Amino acid sequence: MLGHKEPKEIVLTGISASPGICIGKAYLVDREGVDVIKRYMIPKSGLQNEKNRFKKSVMQAKSELNDIIANTHEGLRQHSDILKSHMLLLQDKMLFDRTLDIINQERVNAEWALKKAVSKVMSMFQDISDPYLKDRAIDVVHVSERIMLHLSGVNSVNIADIDKRVILVAHDLSPAQTSQINLERIKGFVTVRGGITSHTSIIARTLGIPAVQGVANATIQIHTDDIIIVDGSAGRIVINPSEQTLVAYEERQEKFESFRASIARISYRPAETTDGLRIRVMGNIEQPEQVVSVMDNGGEGIGLYRTEFQYLSRAQFPNEDDLFNKYRDVVEVMPSAPVTIRTLDINGDKAVNNTTLMESNPVLGLRAIRYCLKRPEIFQTQLRAILRAAAFGDVRVLFPMISTYDELMASKRMLGQAMETLEKSGIEFNRDISIGVMIEVPSLAIMADMIAPEVDFFSIGTNDLIQYSMAVDRANKDVAHLYNPLHPAILRLLKFVSDTAKAYNIQLFMCGEMAGDPFNLPILMGLGMDELSMNPQSIPMAKNVIRSLSAAETRPFLESALKQTTAGDVENLVRDAYGDIITQATSPE
Ligand code: PEP
Ligand code: MG
Repeated sequence: MLGHKEPKEIVLTGISASPGICIGKAYLVDREGVDVIKRYMIPKSGLQNEKNRFKKSVMQAKSELNDIIANTHEGLRQHSDILKSHMLLLQDKMLFDRTLDIINQERVNAEWALKKAVSKVMSMFQDISDPYLKDRAIDVVHVSERIMLHLSGVNSVNIADIDKRVILVAHDLSPAQTSQINLERIKGFVTVRGGITSHTSIIARTLGIPAVQGVANATIQIHTDDIIIVDGSAGRIVINPSEQTLVAYEERQEKFESFRASIARISYRPAETTDGLRIRVMGNIEQPEQVVSVMDNGGEGIGLYRTEFQYLSRAQFPNEDDLFNKYRDVVEVMPSAPVTIRTLDINGDKAVNNTTLMESNPVLGLRAIRYCLKRPEIFQTQLRAILRAAAFGDVRVLFPMISTYDELMASKRMLGQAMETLEKSGIEFNRDISIGVMIEVPSLAIMADMIAPEVDFFSIGTNDLIQYSMAVDRANKDVAHLYNPLHPAILRLLKFVSDTAKAYNIQLFMCGEMAGDPFNLPILMGLGMDELSMNPQSIPMAKNVIRSLSAAETRPFLESALKQTTAGDVENLVRDAYGDIITQATSPE
């Protein structure tokens, strides 16, 4: 007898980006762009319509570009110049007229005609060696993609507008999009792209919502309204779960939540090892409001305030008073705890207005301090705001992505200049601010002994330090297997930085995601970290693990880890020596 057929349960795997379990209806945000373009014939009577469809998409692309240009901050003039050149390309004969000709002559759909026109242009550019003209070829591709998005009706959903309780499924989510997630609506998310330390997954952990990234085919196999389970802890997705699977996951979800709550209840206790060493555990934040979550989870201050999110997704960069008010809000909530304000780390994967500067290697490009030193007016505005907020509490300033001694000295000069301006204007500020540098570019780690005399503290940013040392894009799932904080190469760099900090008697902090993973704690204790900073949700577990470790034992343990050849060897060593202790302190039962 033929019965009612239940949809088949499918399991997909990816990278665990943010722990926890959520169950709900999927909401597909986008597909994988417009790579697959189909060719189909248009009857003679439909040709005019097809040409109009193309013209309309070009008009839409133009008005979209106009909006972006109008909203581009003047500091990004170079960027808007590129966009203006895109406007011209939209009217270019090579692209516009040729596409219309192809529709007419070959009686094909507009998408196919545009694709053909673009490949013709590209083949003309191929033999040209002039780098300027080569860049124009890239512009042609970008412009045609913009038209194509309108032609095929594929447009990203505005995440802030979603008004149902759903689980997002997307090819990719930018950090700016992720930061707009409304916790009352979005239960979790799944993406095809991404890795454990992509900014998108960092934000998911800060928000405390389960997320799995690097799930190949997610946007093809999952449809809007499918019931899915996101197991962020295991990096697993179940589509159309059976009754039995649902019940099992509901139980696990309940256990996980109640364990998390029980650990959170004791998170106010200090992170003191069994032999009496106290380590400060702090929180990383992206938005001022998150300071509450740091306090609720037992954080002893802000070890990293990523300030760039106040600059993303908005038409105008914030002014000095806007910034000052935001920073003071944070400081006033924790007036006696340190608040580490990192200067603008814009670009890389955190591009302005969701667009890129059209760099071919954004993470190796005009990012963070490099951008700030080229845009002194933007940098000065932020530095003055930080110095003013520092009058209200224990503020530290932290410079990101420094790769040379010169950059550090130039940044310090900029800070001095900001002090002078405030002094002259008679505005209250704190001259005695503690100055730190992110150790996240290998060149700086290697030069740590030259840098140490110039700063009050090092803050190790392992997310980038690993990315740049191992040559592994931190957001690329295909090379995620090479991204391992316990790789001996990383441990050696960390050891050198730690020895240097101790020799020069400066404070040693870590604010990269390595600090928030309990499995790494024996190594970090062995390295003698003075302070660890992590996303607020990780604080209770980290403190719980630290309370079960003996600091004295971790020092010889680190020495043996440093003798290993592979990351796997180090992992085995940690598992053998500390596996049970860590499991006990971090999981239910
Ligand atoms: C890091 O690189 O480790 C870091 C903390 O900075 P971000 O993740 O913002 O690049
Ligand atoms: Mg970084």
